Amino acid sequence: MEFGWSQAQENYRERIRAALRELLPADWHETYTPQSYASDAQIEFSRKFCPQLAERGLLVRHWPKEWGGEGGDDWEQFILAEEMKVAGEPRGPQYMNVNWIGPTLMRFATPEQREKYLPGIARGTTIWCQGFSEPGAGTDLAALRTKAERIGDRYRINGSKIWTSYARKADMCFLLARTGAGRKEITVLLVPMATMGVSVTSNPGLCKDGHLNEVFFTDVDVAIDARLGEEGQGWAIVTHALSFERTGVPRYHVGIEVLGLAIAQLKAEGRADDPIVRARAGMIAAQFEAARALTYLVVDQRVKRAPENTDANVARITALDAVVELMNFLVEFTPDCLAGGDAQLEEYYRINVPAGVTAGTYELQLDLIAQRGLGLPRG
Ligand SMILES: Cc1cc2nc3c(=O)[nH]c(=O)nc-3n(C[C@H](O)[C@H](O)[C@H](O)COP(=O)(O)OP(=O)(O)OC[C@H]3O[C@@H](n4cnc5c(N)ncnc54)[C@H](O)[C@@H]3O)c2cc1C
Repeated sequence: MEFGWSQAQENYRERIRAALRELLPADWHETYTPQSYASDAQIEFSRKFCPQLAERGLLVRHWPKEWGGEGGDDWEQFILAEEMKVAGEPRGPQYMNVNWIGPTLMRFATPEQREKYLPGIARGTTIWCQGFSEPGAGTDLAALRTKAERIGDRYRINGSKIWTSYARKADMCFLLARTGAGRKEITVLLVPMATMGVSVTSNPGLCKDGHLNEVFFTDVDVAIDARLGEEGQGWAIVTHALSFERTGVPRYHVGIEVLGLAIAQLKAEGRADDPIVRARAGMIAAQFEAARALTYLVVDQRVKRAPENTDANVARITALDAVVELMNFLVEFTPDCLAGGDAQLEEYYRINVPAGVTAGTYELQLDLIAQRGLGLPRG
């Protein structure tokens, strides 16, 4: 494995940084990033920012030329993700569009559906939300109960979704609904959020604003051409879609930055020489570096089209362990900073409270490593 970046990759990264310097407003970090990237303000900002990124050829560079990309490889997609994450994810929800919704449409959509949806994604003008989880169907997604009943050439949808990030401002929902009694008789429907019978309720919580939404579907009628793929193909489509998110969010950059802020605070207080502080901080830094190396390994395997294995799960667990250790460190050594003393540390803590749950829980990752990686029997 080659650990260096090529000159072309360095240049590409610099192009992204230059675009960020040019496009982010001066008050970006003060005004926007303390809010969640799922907040209404940041979603609206993404409607301005993403088209400008697209104009510079940086939004979907890894897509095929036919759909507005440059046919770039997975490293380019990943470098973009790293730089956006460090900048506070100014793409808002549109990271999902370019990472998995677009590519999944390319694979399963009809030519008419591709023409209808892909240009909006490539131009950065459409907001999508992901309607998978339900009360009682999170990790066990196949337990979902939202029903799509076939009536002639239409589907009638009834049920509800929870944790639907961005739903308040989304134009479209990538919805999973049950079309049969069997556990995996599930179908994907592409539902405009403005359809009659769709409503969104937001719930307050510890988690940052914009994630904990419930979406209700009450006798929602959509035409059959809202269906992605075949009826009952939803499970296969979602498995394919989620494989694009194998590496998850690159967490190490921000983690190291936050650790540095905490250390600076402890230095200012004359407490950074405490051997316990030093040992704990060193361990956390090492964990983040391990997460970085493992994540790069997974991207490398992807570029080389290596068969699926559990390295991605190991990378995620390593990153999550580092995040949890850092959160414990902040509580133990800089508690005042978390109680209003430092907006950035507080923000980091709050945003990571659900880190072990979102996009495949910590325990689920362990299960996958145990079963698929180590060949242990199902518990
Ligand atoms: C910030 C945030 C944003 C989200 N955004 C979206 C979104 O946009 N769209 C969407 O559809 N969903 C979204 N989700 C939902 C998320 O994907 C689910 O919360 C997740 O799949 C877990 O489901 P759950 O909350 O029902 O917990 P559960 O599945 O009930 O899990 C609860 C606990 O039980 C453990 N557990 C469950 N099953 C097993 C098992 N077999 N073995 C061992 N332990 C197990 C879990 O690890 C966890 O600790 C979001 C969640 C969060 C926190």
